Amino acid sequence: MKKTIKDYNLKNKKVIIRCDLNVPIENGVITDDTRITESLETIKYALRKKAKVIILSHLGRIKEESDKKDNSLKIVSKRLEELLEQPVKFIPFTRGKEVEDAINNMNIKDVVMLENTRFEDVNNESESKNNEELAKYWASLGEIYINDAFGTAHRSHTSNVGIASILPSGVGFLIQKEIEEINEALNNPKRPLVILLGGLKVADKLGVIENAVKVADTLLIGGGMSYTFFKSFGYDVGLSVVDDASIDFCKRVYEENKNKIKLPSDMIVGKSISEDTDSRLTTPDRVDKNEMGLDIGTKTINDYKKILMEAKTIIWNGPVGVFELNKFSQGTRKMTETLSNSKAKIIIGGGDTAAAVNKFGFNNRNAHISTGGGASLEMLEGKELPGIKCISDKWKSLKRI
Ligand code: AMP
Repeated sequence: MKKTIKDYNLKNKKVIIRCDLNVPIENGVITDDTRITESLETIKYALRKKAKVIILSHLGRIKEESDKKDNSLKIVSKRLEELLEQPVKFIPFTRGKEVEDAINNMNIKDVVMLENTRFEDVNNESESKNNEELAKYWASLGEIYINDAFGTAHRSHTSNVGIASILPSGVGFLIQKEIEEINEALNNPKRPLVILLGGLKVADKLGVIENAVKVADTLLIGGGMSYTFFKSFGYDVGLSVVDDASIDFCKRVYEENKNKIKLPSDMIVGKSISEDTDSRLTTPDRVDKNEMGLDIGTKTINDYKKILMEAKTIIWNGPVGVFELNKFSQGTRKMTETLSNSKAKIIIGGGDTAAAVNKFGFNNRNAHISTGGGASLEMLEGKELPGIKCISDKWKSLKRI
């Protein structure tokens, strides 16, 4: 068991909270502040407990000096200030005298936010390569480290693994919820557990498929990843997306788990990925050379629906068709509707699946929509995430510091 923020006495302590404030920004305006609002619970808790809160986060990717211009956290600090209804002192540096002075002058319940941790990546990728010297420096700024950035928990960076290896550490409420929900669904589910996997490339999800056939009662496959399976059966799938390097994998895993894996029995094919292409309903063995599979068909929708309605736990990662286009959105829309009406415990894997279900009005109080795409995928593979593994264990010391 990992320590959480609640395991520490935060009063008058300099608490570094690593948040994931990597929000989308267009023309200098935050277009979706969900990641900031989701960080509030942990930050507010630390403030209620009279901590001095030092916030670290990344924003975008920084490869060279010129990337810094559009990726400053200043605008994020302003939004956080509004949401917290208290000042957030933004320091436009990741190290140096300004940072140290601001932190040394903090009173309890103050909030200081440093500049984008990835600005350090222009120095030999110091943040992304978990640089020891930078870890020591950032750790020297605080007394307790809390990781609440689930979106980067599958990475071994300085601002998570580096600092946590030095300071007493714990997870924040956001990460705690993610671990508990996903672990419970995978390791201690109410059965039947049905895993629905879709998305573009099977290659991205080989590890998830391998783990899913171990833990699930049924694995439903949809989306672009179906076509590598069909190709492995010897079908001509036309222009559908196929990952040739994964054909042998698909053949083997299907042979070994025929009783668990369900593939689409029909599909909507089109000639291109566009709204005005000709489309038709067909079966996997009857795809023309100039066609590609872009959604699951009506029989598949009904079959999958039946299986999902009987499930007590459902994990869904990856849309079952090109949901962005109305013409090929029916499958994903119907899966969303089915899960909205389900009484099962539901985990929806981050990224595109979250965007898809939100688009189709998903609403279910039994569902957990994960905030981290890559991190949730690695948890579904059964891996321990480095950003969580590095956190202090509860059993090592029960004494509150
Ligand atoms: P992923 O990031 O792997 O979950 O993939 C999500 C993307 O897969 C979405 O943008 C979908 O449009 C796309 N997708 C789903 N099904 C198909 C398909 N049959 N052919 C091509 N793209 C697909």
